[in-house]
Parts: sequence; structure tokens; C-alpha cells
Amino acid sequence: MPLASYEHLQNSILCIDIGLDTNTNFVRWTSPTTNVFPMDIEAARKMAKEKFFLHIEKPNRRMVFIKDRGIIFFIMADVEIQYQMMEAILEECIEQFFNSYGAIYQNFFSGMTNIFEGFKSTMKSNIENAQKNRIKWIQSKCPICQENYYVCVRKTLIENATSFPVSIVFQHGGHGLLIYLDAKFHTRGSEVVEITG
Ligand SMILES: [Zn+2]
Repeated sequence: MPLASYEHLQNSILCIDIGLDTNTNFVRWTSPTTNVFPMDIEAARKMAKEKFFLHIEKPNRRMVFIKDRGIIFFIMADVEIQYQMMEAILEECIEQFFNSYGAIYQNFFSGMTNIFEGFKSTMKSNIENAQKNRIKWIQSKCPICQENYYVCVRKTLIENATSFPVSIVFQHGGHGLLIYLDAKFHTRGSEVVEITG
């Protein structure tokens, strides 16, 4: 079962952070054993773009972040957690955050605030809900490794798509496998792609 590989998902999520800029932090949740990396968070806040998930990869941790309505949502995890899973968790956090504070958050766009502290207590259920409701696992065989992989796909990637097939690159072991998915999350083909950048 693919979910078994994320049995310890909670322990692999190192930090979830919500804020605006260097001086304005709304929520900073960290796992009990994690050191916070303020430099990482600051770098992410500067790079973040509205509506697009961006990634930073370090040797021992990876980060995903996105700006939504001016607020930067950030997640850090162990490198074995797939990006699509991390994005799904952020989607859940964004929805829950605006459900709870949508009417008032703009009042806190300047200066420090701890009005959002209570949101920390929702993080465990946000992670759980994302894993249960916001992702699908597909299987794909890589011709280079000759391995069958479980690939995590965010449901909204398919549900919000305007044309099909949707393509996604599963990057692993120093190479990329391009996978085509139809509207039912079925694999319609795959090929090894070259990577640059
Ligand atoms: Zn491979």
C-alpha cells in the first residue's frame, strides 16, 4: 500500500509557516525535534509568487511555498516526502486559514501579532486531511531504474486542469520521468526527459 510509505508523515513534516515578511509572522509550527531555519523562510518569502507552488531543495530538507492573497504559506519536510504531498498540505492549510480568519486577516498586515497562534493546533489535522482527501497515488515504471514507483499526485492538479493529458515530472535518482495523466488519474504514457535549468 502506498500510504504505508507515509505512515510517519507527521514526523517528516518539519515546519509549516505562515507570514508576510521578515517582521510579520502569523503562525510558525515546527515538529518537536526540528530547528527552525529563519533564513530558509526568509528566502522563500522573497521568492514566493501568487498561485504558483515554488520549491527549494537542500541536501537534508526540501521546501514548498506559495503566496495567496498576499500571505506566504511555507512547508518544510524530509527529502523523501514528495512535493505534491507537501503542496496538498499547503492547500489544506490555506483553505483552513482563510475559513478561520478570512474576515479579519488584513487587519494584521503590519507589525507582529499572535492572533493566529490558535491555528498551530490545527496543523496535525491539516496534515492528516491532506493525506486522506487531497492526493492520489499512481504507479509508474521508470525505464532507467527498472523500478515501479508510487508517485503522489495532488487532486487539484487534475481537477483544475483545462486540458488533458496533464503532464508531471517525477524527479528521482538524478533524472526525470515525464508522466501523462488523464482526467481519471490514469497513466496515459511516460518517458524519460532531459533536465536543464
Ligand atoms: Zn528512474
